[in-house]
Amino acid sequence: MDLLAGRRERPVPAVGQVGHYLIHRRDEERGPEDEEADRARDQAGADVLAGEPPVHGGRSTRSRPGRVAFRACSRGGETAVVQDAAEPAVVGVDVGGTKIAAARVAGASARDLTQRATDISGPEAVLDGIEAAVREVVDATGPVEAVGIGLPSQVEFATGTVVASVNIPLAGVPLRDELGTRLGTPVYIDNDANCAALAEAGLVDEPPARHLVMLTLGTGVGGGIVIDGRIFRGSSGLGAELGHVVLDANGPACPGACPNRGCLEAYCSGTALERDATELAQDRPESWLGQVAADHGGRVTGRDVVNAATEGDEDARDLLERLGTWLGVGIADFVNTFEPEHLVIGGGLSAAHELFLHTAEHEARSRALPALFERVRISLARAGNDAGVIGAGLLAAQELGLSGDTSRPTAREEVG
Ligand SMILES: [Zn+2]
Repeated sequence: MDLLAGRRERPVPAVGQVGHYLIHRRDEERGPEDEEADRARDQAGADVLAGEPPVHGGRSTRSRPGRVAFRACSRGGETAVVQDAAEPAVVGVDVGGTKIAAARVAGASARDLTQRATDISGPEAVLDGIEAAVREVVDATGPVEAVGIGLPSQVEFATGTVVASVNIPLAGVPLRDELGTRLGTPVYIDNDANCAALAEAGLVDEPPARHLVMLTLGTGVGGGIVIDGRIFRGSSGLGAELGHVVLDANGPACPGACPNRGCLEAYCSGTALERDATELAQDRPESWLGQVAADHGGRVTGRDVVNAATEGDEDARDLLERLGTWLGVGIADFVNTFEPEHLVIGGGLSAAHELFLHTAEHEARSRALPALFERVRISLARAGNDAGVIGAGLLAAQELGLSGDTSRPTAREEVG
């Protein structure tokens, strides 16, 4: 259990393979023993690659999932990720309601990130924006073999068709086919919470997590589950809605597009926090939050609550502690169900983790089956704003490797 894990810098070992990366120490810190270790490691890496049979129709340049090799090289003290020839070249795209971000993804890191505003005037405009973002990255970094895309939408994974989408006008659009035709490369589409979970699985302490549960606390509560290194989606891709697990059958109405009551999202989302704070402000207009509401047209936002709690307001602190308690109830359920190695908390609300996460951990410990809880590590998300892009890129690399898709022309020929 390490609640502080997300706040630490990842230690850079002197030499050695760290998951997807081979890390070199900065030049000025290197000594003769490093050179020796480098030679041994390079030979070991060469042996692994040489011993690996060609895969996917004789295309020997692509490694199998989980057999990826990258090298982080020191350039004038700066650490830059250099993609190994064995790894498929991919672009990850994170499509949000306000911006589209895209980057070349190597291992669990993004580079040459590009961002543009999302034009939500219609499906064609969104498609144009995604295509332009991908082409910009390709122009800057070279051809790619696959593109992964994360969306805040319900996606039928096998076909890449958007089933439902609240903030982006893509409902009913066969996005995988549309973009595949435009880009001439395999395209993989998934829910952004799933992509974020995959990114976190690649970023937790080495080796990458095989079993991970992620909760994204934002306006709503998103969930992502990684089992055996792959995203768990349910039969068609709509599953893993952890925010709609019920904590109290008679609880408040769920604020999401959900008919249920007492869901995790009804207690641990920004919307729930806002609801409770606004209610408190109405009941006690003389309170700190009551004053905030009076200054803001009767409404108290989640950010207002966090600010008030940070300033020491007891009401605001109580609201966040209560959120933490309910979060702990949910965490205990997920620990008992999935027995993950890691349970990761992300989303905008996680920035205020000091105000609720210890409470959540304490509550979860008191409720989960002890033998399971002792094995899980709870931490904050590490990918930050790049989680969607990194996860989408990892998805593309993983799915391309699994599908062995050589039937379509690759982007080496058609994109860029
Ligand atoms: Zn719900």
